[in-house]
Amino acid sequence: MIAAVSVLAVYQYRWTEEISRTEQARLKNSLATSVRTFDQEFSYDFQQLCESFEVDPQAEHADAEARVAREQANWARTSAHAEFVRDLYIWKGGSSREPVLEMFHRDDHRFHDGSWPLELSPLHRYLTGLGDLASLAVDDRQAVYYPWTFFADAPALLRPIFQLVPNESGSISGVRATGMLIVVLNREYLEREYLPDLVDRSFGPSGQKSFVVTVRTAEAPYRTIYLSDSTFPVAASSTDAAVNLFDLVGEEARRRGHPPLQPSVAGEQWQLVAQHPAGSLEEAVAVWRRRNLAISLGLLAILAASMALIVSVARRSKRLARMQMEFVAGVSHELCTPLAVINTAAENLADGVVESSAQMQEYGGLIRGQGRRLERLVDEVLLFTAGRFGLSGYDLGRVEVAPIISQSLVASESNLRDAGFTLTREIGDRLPPIVADPAAAITCIENLVSNAAKYSTSNKWIAIRAKEDSSDSKPEVRISVEDRGIGISSSDLAHIFEPFYRVQSVRDDRIRGVGLGLYLVKRMMEDMGGRVSVTSELGRGTEVALHFAVADLAGETNRPARSGTNQLSNSRLDSQVSQSEI
Ligand code: ADP
Repeated sequence: MIAAVSVLAVYQYRWTEEISRTEQARLKNSLATSVRTFDQEFSYDFQQLCESFEVDPQAEHADAEARVAREQANWARTSAHAEFVRDLYIWKGGSSREPVLEMFHRDDHRFHDGSWPLELSPLHRYLTGLGDLASLAVDDRQAVYYPWTFFADAPALLRPIFQLVPNESGSISGVRATGMLIVVLNREYLEREYLPDLVDRSFGPSGQKSFVVTVRTAEAPYRTIYLSDSTFPVAASSTDAAVNLFDLVGEEARRRGHPPLQPSVAGEQWQLVAQHPAGSLEEAVAVWRRRNLAISLGLLAILAASMALIVSVARRSKRLARMQMEFVAGVSHELCTPLAVINTAAENLADGVVESSAQMQEYGGLIRGQGRRLERLVDEVLLFTAGRFGLSGYDLGRVEVAPIISQSLVASESNLRDAGFTLTREIGDRLPPIVADPAAAITCIENLVSNAAKYSTSNKWIAIRAKEDSSDSKPEVRISVEDRGIGISSSDLAHIFEPFYRVQSVRDDRIRGVGLGLYLVKRMMEDMGGRVSVTSELGRGTEVALHFAVADLAGETNRPARSGTNQLSNSRLDSQVSQSEI
């Protein structure tokens, strides 16, 4: 599965790379097509405009005004964008005569003398700077191809009106400029209708455009004529596409044999610029690729995590199954040994093999010891079942510590001494009463003492200590059992409170036990509002401590009892507290 996920991840990575390259090429192509469409339509419309107002120098018997008026009428009738032209002027200026500005009136289709409107004053200055128009002597070929000038400020198209000059004999002697035709463009229409329509047609309707499109002047400081998304600043550099719009107009004009179009100042040329909202087309594809990779690799990671989870769950179930098997085997073995001893002792007694009272006592002690061992085993199993199903109810109350410890050792002390153990008791002088269920507390201490004995080899030494510990915010009484036995490794230490857990070396040495003791101690302590702690060093010994909450001075327990209170008196202790009562 790991190999499959890794192979999938590699393929996913490669495919994403490949798809990104294809996507980048697709976006570039679509951008190039959109820019071309825009450029061609724009060029066609401007070319039409320029051609429409070309005044033929050879037209005889008519003055310039009449000829321009005729062109205007044609344009208004035939053009799809008649609104392009806002006003028409003819300027006749020069040093040799008084400059005259004539304005076209639409109502009578004639030119009348007028004065410069305020918004055209830059244009006025520009024309005055050009000098005397009459001195503009060109031959007839030059006159035909004399370019249109685009004056961005107005905006307006300018071109001299040429006329053939006859000499005395009536033949043609040359061509001269009789005035300057000024076609003032309709800025409002261009910015609000024409350019937005053209952008929508070329780049897709608003809201569906992949690019932000602007028409602006070609050189810094840029002046924006149109911007498709006013919230997006089109960067001065690193644009995805930029094309000078008048270049194609000029090329087309030359191809068709008409005068070209050129800006009055090179930087005032109009430019179409497109940029992806992500910053650039490459950046957009990179973002897309990263997102795709993140999603697919995320899914693969989830798959891998699920696999790991399944493996871990399978391992745990296997371990649990093994532990339960070992538990059953352990319980059977634990039951068999004392039963066999009791049976043999009983048979010997019944057969009259035992005669002396000393032997009788020895047999009695043997049967009692094995009986207790059986009793504890049954108790552990019963407690485990009760804990599992939430049936553990305790009688919590104020309990004196010293009697509890004495009671815990009643059964085992003499056996331990017989087995050669040194038993040390260090019980604090004025220990406060604790919150506990006496029977449960005794079971816990007995368990720890039994473990200390079981897991000690040559160094047979056990210490039981009880002292008050107020280092924490909550005062506690700490009852600990320490041995100098085999100890527990730190890796095993993390597991010894789990049910059925037994250290491997203990299993190998066939030391009796089923792995429930410490689990039950922990459960019981927690149920009584306390806790267990353990410190151990492999080969050196172990100390397990029970931390009990101190009962408060008012006579109430710190923790509410589940069923009444239980004052454990010495007399109660004297009577046998059977573990099976629990
Ligand atoms: P059992 O003693 O029946 O195996 P416990 O739950 O009491 O089960 O203990 C769990 C395991 O912890 C034991 O199998 C043993 O490996 C380890 N252990 C417990 N107490 C001690 C101790 N005092 N010294 C060394 N090992 C211990």
